Amino acid sequence: MKSKTNQTFTTPQPEEKHRVIIIGGGPAGISAAIQLQRCGLRPLLLERRELGGLLWNANLVENYPGFPNGVRGEKLIGLMKKQVERLGAEVKREEARQVTWSEDDFCVETDCARRGAQYLIVAAGTLSRALPDVIAPETKGRVFTEVWPLANVTERKIVIVGAGDAAFDYALNLAQRGNFVTILNRGENVKCLELLFERAAQEERIEYRAGVAVHAITADKRAGRLEVRCEALAQGKFSLHAEYALFAIGRVPNLDFLSDEIRGRAQELVESGRLYFVGDVKNDSFRQAAIAAGDGLRAAMAISVRER
Ligand SMILES: Cc1cc2nc3c(=O)[nH]c(=O)nc-3n(C[C@H](O)[C@H](O)[C@H](O)COP(=O)(O)OP(=O)(O)OC[C@H]3O[C@@H](n4cnc5c(N)ncnc54)[C@H](O)[C@@H]3O)c2cc1C
Repeated sequence: MKSKTNQTFTTPQPEEKHRVIIIGGGPAGISAAIQLQRCGLRPLLLERRELGGLLWNANLVENYPGFPNGVRGEKLIGLMKKQVERLGAEVKREEARQVTWSEDDFCVETDCARRGAQYLIVAAGTLSRALPDVIAPETKGRVFTEVWPLANVTERKIVIVGAGDAAFDYALNLAQRGNFVTILNRGENVKCLELLFERAAQEERIEYRAGVAVHAITADKRAGRLEVRCEALAQGKFSLHAEYALFAIGRVPNLDFLSDEIRGRAQELVESGRLYFVGDVKNDSFRQAAIAAGDGLRAAMAISVRER
């Protein structure tokens, strides 16, 4: 078939063949890349943003061994990056748009290339649950689900919706940067670690309100802020004003880029040792960096044993 510009269209074939492709450069993918590189298997790691994954949001990581005083997420990422670089693993800043199964191999498509892979490690983590439809479109740029876009924001009012570890971790992070934070919990019970709740309670810049439902978020463009309309049993309807809002309302596995065929055959491909799911993408409520790193290491070792 000819296009209007006289170029010929053909079915694209994989342009490169790799032994192992890793999708996702959080702790799980990084750890897999490090071990595979050490084993001489030269993986290709695809990361759509920057290496580090959800750790960009972590204020103080206190349960990753080797850091007696805890370590900021950003610092831990820096160390992980250095390790990948020192070992020379290949990292490309590309998003895997689609992964299909073709002629007994995986075919990973990004905007830049179409690559074949014998083994696929899916370390793509999670996505935030869809935001409630109470948020007006003109609030874009002021409503987020992760804290890293607000890394340079200071002395602003920020509303956080949620009641789990992430909500409280975000609040501590933002308050420590000089912001004023209100956490809104729809229910009456907190779901975070007691330790995080206690730290938040000691922080003057954090206010916590339980039993508050958010009904609408609109942008007051002239004032450069959001209006967060709420309802509480005790207080009835009221509004809060804030420059930003953050939703920490849970996360779901990020697997949309896998073709229906791969999803349908996932168990078979996992059992045959060709496909690996590592880290948060498969860990339900066990979503922790050290677990993710361990998963990545295990997958890499399993592949290296097969390739011996
Ligand atoms: C606020 C907060 C605090 C936390 N605190 C701690 C803590 O104290 N201790 C702890 O152990 N854990 C903590 N965690 C959890 C920890 O960050 C995660 O468990 C860990 O990052 C999971 O690693 P992962 O590699 O599985 O996934 P992720 O870190 O989510 O990484 C997945 C990566 O895949 C990339 N990706 C996704 N899709 C594609 C695609 N199609 N193509 C290319 N790349 C893609 C993403 O951009 C991302 O970089 C915290 C998390 C949050 C949000």
